[in-house]
Amino acid sequence: MKIGFIGLGNMGGPMASNLLKAGHELFIFDLMEASIKKLVDQSPGKAKALSAPQEIAAAGMDVIITMLPAAAHVKSVYLGPAGLLENVTKNTVLIDCSTIDPQTAREIAGLAKAQGTVMLDAPVSGGTGGAEAGTLTFMVGGEESDFNQWKAIFSLMGKNIVYCGGSGNGQVAKVANNMLLGISMIGTAEAMSLGVSLGMDPKVLAGIINTSSGRCWSSDTYNPYPGVLENVPSSRGYTGGFGSDLMLKDLGLAAEAAKSAKQPIPLGSLAQQIYQTFSLQGDGGLDFSAIINLFRKK
Ligand code: NAD
Repeated sequence: MKIGFIGLGNMGGPMASNLLKAGHELFIFDLMEASIKKLVDQSPGKAKALSAPQEIAAAGMDVIITMLPAAAHVKSVYLGPAGLLENVTKNTVLIDCSTIDPQTAREIAGLAKAQGTVMLDAPVSGGTGGAEAGTLTFMVGGEESDFNQWKAIFSLMGKNIVYCGGSGNGQVAKVANNMLLGISMIGTAEAMSLGVSLGMDPKVLAGIINTSSGRCWSSDTYNPYPGVLENVPSSRGYTGGFGSDLMLKDLGLAAEAAKSAKQPIPLGSLAQQIYQTFSLQGDGGLDFSAIINLFRKK
């Protein structure tokens, strides 16, 4: 297949690399020259650099995938005279894997549909490790028949490919999951800090939580207390992993989505404020489990 790929950062780079490994021809674009070069060097002749999104759109792709930081970037790539929608050829499918708010995803998919272009929203979870290993989870919104037709392409980059319903529902699933993740990480951090300050050994406490009713992913797979688990950010100074500022971004998306639906999210809002405080202290670059530093003695 001829696949366009726009946004070759921490996630998009390895995702594109997996498509190349599967033998597809890639037409790529990013604002960062170095990210383009890396893929071209990996697969000379198979990865071709083009100079703008509209050039990729006009070159007649089977699929164009975008993996961009936030809604503003997605709008700038899809909309306007130089955007994908204006320039895309007939029969190209557009897939946006960026994490953005469901409203923007629905708005752009609606414009695509009005001109007869198929568009799917397909945000991911699994982090950079999952992107490299090709084990991402894709949460896909759009027409079910389009999802079934294009499911195979997601399988080259991910392991769990889930149809979530109409346009924007992939983003809804992502936002709901990450809001819960933010809340559960703060809860785990509080509980671990309380137990240790009252005299418990952190490993023993985590072991009890993980076989009791407090068990959750934040505790049993990604425990924020240093030394409880190996090979997680808390055991390497909170480097790598999923940045606190990215969690803050996702909590902001949840807050916006909740506002538009008039849906109360008291704990989600509080989690957003707690991560905002952490970011203001200059720690937004640390993994999101570093939030425990707010509750521990220095
Ligand atoms: P990143 O900042 O590493 O990469 C984004 C890339 O988009 C950059 O290379 C940037 O140059 C490029 N870009 C920005 N504007 C552009 C434009 N107008 N045209 C072309 N390229 C442009 O971000 P990332 O970590 O790869 O994340 C991408 C998306 O995936 C985000 O929405 C993020 O929330 C989501 N996500 C990230 C993770 C993670 O662990 N990093 C996990 C799940 C989901």
